[in-house]
Amino acid sequence: MVAGAGAVGLAVARALRLGLGPVPGRGTSRRGPRDVLVLEARARPGAGVSSRSSEVVHAGLYYAPGSLKARTCVEGARRLWQFCAERGVRARKLGKLVVAPGRAAWDAPPRAPARASAPPPSAPSGRLEALAANARLCGASGLELLTAARARELEPALGRARGSAGGALLSRDSGIFDSHAFVEALAADVEGQGSSLSFSSSSSCSPASPSSSSSPAAASPPLGGGMIVSRAALVGGDLSRAGADGRLELLVRTAAGGGAGGGGPETVRVRADALVVAAGLGTARLLHGDLVEADAVVPGLRGWPSPEGLPPRAAFAYAKGNYFALPPSRGPSPFSRLLYPLPDPSGAGLGIHATLDLSGRTRFGPDVEWLGERETRELNGEGRSDGERGGGGGGGAGGGGSEIFGPEPGDVDPSRAALFDAAIRSYWPGLPGAGALRPEYAGVRPKLLPFSRRGSGGEGGAVGEAAAAALSPPSSSSDFFVAGARTHGARGVAVVAGIESPGLTASLALADEIVAALLEE
Ligand SMILES: Cc1cc2nc3c(=O)[nH]c(=O)nc-3n(C[C@H](O)[C@H](O)[C@H](O)COP(=O)(O)OP(=O)(O)OC[C@H]3O[C@@H](n4cnc5c(N)ncnc54)[C@H](O)[C@@H]3O)c2cc1C
Repeated sequence: MVAGAGAVGLAVARALRLGLGPVPGRGTSRRGPRDVLVLEARARPGAGVSSRSSEVVHAGLYYAPGSLKARTCVEGARRLWQFCAERGVRARKLGKLVVAPGRAAWDAPPRAPARASAPPPSAPSGRLEALAANARLCGASGLELLTAARARELEPALGRARGSAGGALLSRDSGIFDSHAFVEALAADVEGQGSSLSFSSSSSCSPASPSSSSSPAAASPPLGGGMIVSRAALVGGDLSRAGADGRLELLVRTAAGGGAGGGGPETVRVRADALVVAAGLGTARLLHGDLVEADAVVPGLRGWPSPEGLPPRAAFAYAKGNYFALPPSRGPSPFSRLLYPLPDPSGAGLGIHATLDLSGRTRFGPDVEWLGERETRELNGEGRSDGERGGGGGGGAGGGGSEIFGPEPGDVDPSRAALFDAAIRSYWPGLPGAGALRPEYAGVRPKLLPFSRRGSGGEGGAVGEAAAAALSPPSSSSDFFVAGARTHGARGVAVVAGIESPGLTASLALADEIVAALLEE
């Protein structure tokens, strides 16, 4: 079973169903196809974090060399380009410029250096060179450091940036893709010729080893097949394999009842050989067992033989990213490539950048707006009464009461336009005057603050603003978290957390890592 039908959950479900996923050096071998059941709390697959990105295929410039982010970004991008080409998912390798600020450099007319050994007047800044060196160590290819003059030849709209240096790093292998079509293609591979049975219709669920008469329904995917069930959330379970058949016993909350009249939400039990938790913004609640109803038939996800090594609740923090755009009436895009400033030194974001979509429109963002304490506590499942637990107590898909079933915080505060205006002008002085930018949409990054993998224990409070301070140098921002039994002790259970950017790019490669974690003894 896979909990969460975002890009990551679907990529691992696809790998399991197709029997993919050997990881060189991890001692795993090629396996046969498996039956897969994917649960999605929202009304359809891919409606979570995966639906709110910049749709950029990252080349792997920013991450700590050797980290999971770096490795899966570089390998994931290679596979993603190939997947898009083979499956007809629209994608364009249009390239990207990371520009260093520098009024003097950008304003200076291009001229030849006086001596061959002298640096050119608009040489790339030290930070750009460091970024290029880091990118090469990560395994990124297609890189070139450009003088400011050369960058302006490529993108004439650049200019008059503030600061003291200048220049740009060109990444030819960065680009854009249709992330929605990608997720649909993954879902199609998971379901294949299989079924799209719905948990909300008891007649279409085939009971699989019902474990007690109190279980209203159970489901199994067709043999050798895959099934994605929407409006159904993992809300608890026993990971100790205590049952007679030694399988995991999991609790699933459906939005609508199984009766003919629809009914309210109900909880069903499902037995599974293995579990992948890839629940995006819902992961902290699952790991800390907060979705369990007081009267649950089996204990909630308290069955971790050893919780050590899992991220403590206080490590989960959330940074909203807002986007603004120019209305089409403001003319064509000023750029033909992706345009990024140097990354935010805090490591929290890549800086307010300009991306193009596949129709050629430019949008700006995302910025970094840390969610406050209340929202963080809610996402982490803290301070909820028993009545609120178990997937929303009547919230239903899109209904109130449960953020698990409900929409993500997607509104953009129009007053943030001033912040965007200033950031964009640092590389695009031609930005039209005040009021030109229109709020677009927002997404929330599930971040993990650095934590100790052993004996982390502490259940401290929410972080909010404190998170920003804790995430100081870029090198200290956490890696993607993928853990199997060697970390948490539950055999056949893989946990994925902190899948912020470049999670879409990395998803096909992350799937291999997750399969390897599932196989850990
Ligand atoms: C603003 C922003 C911009 C980004 N830009 C890029 C980019 O340009 N390129 C890039 O590569 N990456 C980008 N990312 C990162 C990327 O979008 C994510 O890393 C990736 O989509 C995460 O996928 P996921 O499957 O882990 O999460 P999700 O897509 O959120 O999937 C998790 C799913 O689990 C479901 N769920 C939650 N709880 C439960 C439960 N208990 N039971 C069942 N289901 C549950 C949720 O409804 C959700 O659909 C961006 C992220 C943000 C926020």
